[in-house]
Amino acid sequence: ADGAGSRLREALGIAMEGPDALQHYIMIHFEADLRALTAARPGVLYFLFDPATSGVLIAYDRAKTWVLMHPCDPAADAPESFDEAKCRPLVEAAIADAAPFAIRNISPWAMSAQIAERYRKGRVFLAGDAAHRFPPTGGLGLNTGAVDAQNLAWKLAAVLKGEAGEALLDTYEAERRPVAVANSEQSLMNASKLFELFGVLYGPDPARMNEHYKALAADPAASAALPAAIEAQRPHFDSFNLQLGYRYASAALAGAPPLIPASDIDISRYEPSWEVGAHLPHRWVSRGGERVSLLSLRDPARFSLLAGPAASAWRKAADGFGLHTISSGCDFTDEDDWSALTGLPADGALLIRPDGHIACRFDEADDAPRQLARVMGSLLSLSAFAPA
Ligand SMILES: Cc1cc2nc3c(=O)[nH]c(=O)nc-3n(C[C@H](O)[C@H](O)[C@H](O)COP(=O)(O)OP(=O)(O)OC[C@H]3O[C@@H](n4cnc5c(N)ncnc54)[C@H](O)[C@@H]3O)c2cc1C
Repeated sequence: ADGAGSRLREALGIAMEGPDALQHYIMIHFEADLRALTAARPGVLYFLFDPATSGVLIAYDRAKTWVLMHPCDPAADAPESFDEAKCRPLVEAAIADAAPFAIRNISPWAMSAQIAERYRKGRVFLAGDAAHRFPPTGGLGLNTGAVDAQNLAWKLAAVLKGEAGEALLDTYEAERRPVAVANSEQSLMNASKLFELFGVLYGPDPARMNEHYKALAADPAASAALPAAIEAQRPHFDSFNLQLGYRYASAALAGAPPLIPASDIDISRYEPSWEVGAHLPHRWVSRGGERVSLLSLRDPARFSLLAGPAASAWRKAADGFGLHTISSGCDFTDEDDWSALTGLPADGALLIRPDGHIACRFDEADDAPRQLARVMGSLLSLSAFAPA
C-alpha cells in the first residue's frame, strides 16, 4: 500500500494496465477562511472557468482548509516549476482576492485509469493506489483501497494462524480486481461526462467562455443539450450501488451466482441483497428493546452464522465450530418475517465472512454440522475443516 507510484510494484515488475497520465494537475493546498465568499452557494466542489485560472476548488473545511486543483500541460509548463510564486496568482484569481491565504503544500499528480495486471507476487500483495489509480471523479479511490485491506486482512490472518490453506490468498485478487476495474471505468466515464457538460456550459472557444456561459445562464431553455448533459452527471454523484452493491464470486464463497456484467448494472440504484457474494445488508433490528443495525450483530473477527427462527441445530453446529451465531427471533427481532426477508425457510441460515460478505446460504438444517464443515473446508481451502 505504498501509493500510486508504488516502488515495490515496480521492483516486482508488475505492470499497470490502462491509460496513464490522461491529464496533469498541480494540487495547491492552502489555508483561508472562505466562509463569506461561499456563504451564498455553499458546496464541496467549485469548478472554475476563467482565463486567469481554472480547475477545481475543493472545500475540506470552508473556514480553513482548501485545495485548488489546477490543470497543467507539462509540454508547456514543467510541473516542478509550480512553486509558491507561480501558484499564488492562481489562488488569488480562484478566490477573487476575497481573503488572505497561506499555501501549505504544492504537489503535481497525473490523472490515470490503471489497474495492476496482478495483485500478488509471492508473499507480496498490492492494495490501495499501488494496485489501482482512478480519476478522482466519483471519489472512489480511497474507498476501494480501504476495502482491499479489509478483504485481505482476514484471509492473511486465517492463513497465518493455520486456519486456512494458502489458496485462500488467491481469492483476494479474484474478488478485489473486478471491483477496481468497475470503479476505474466509472470514474473515467464520470470525467468524460463532466467534460461534456463543461463543453455545453462554456462552449468551444476558450477566449469566449464567460460570454457563452452568461448567455446560457440568461436563457437555459435555449440550449437543447443542457438537460441531457446535466442528467448524465447522475451516476457521478449518485453511485450507491457501485459503492455498496458490488458482489464477489470466488473460491472463498460457496455457490455465488455469476457476476452481472457492469453494463447491466444501474449504479445509482442500490437494492439490499441476500445472495452469496453480496455484503450483508444493513437493517434496523431490535435487540433487547434497542434499535441496532443487523451489521453490528456479526463478529468482524470470525465467521458468523445468521440463522432463522428454527435455529437450534445451527446454533449447536456453529458453537461446535467456534463460529459466532446470531438467530432471528432469539438474538434480534425484525419487523419483517425472516423468510420474506432472506428467502430462506425458518431452519435456514446464512454464513457471513469476517468481512461481512455472505459466504453461503443454507436452506435446511439437516445434518447441520456436516453441511457447515463441508462449506467451511471448501471456502477456506482446507482438505478438512475441524472444530475449533
Ligand atoms: C485530487 C484527488 C481527489 C481525491 N478524492 C477522493 C475522494 O473524494 N474519495 C476517495 O475515496 N478517494 C479520493 N482520492 C483518492 C485517494 O486520495 C487515494 O485513493 C488514497 O489516498 C490512496 O491511499 P493509499 O493508502 O493506497 O495510498 P497513499 O495515500 O498514496 O499512501 C501511500 C503511503 O505510503 C507511503 N510510502 C510509500 N513508500 C513507502 C515506503 N517504502 N515505506 C514506507 N512508506 C511508504 C507514502 O509516504 C504514503 O504515505 C482522490 C485523489 C486525488 C488525487
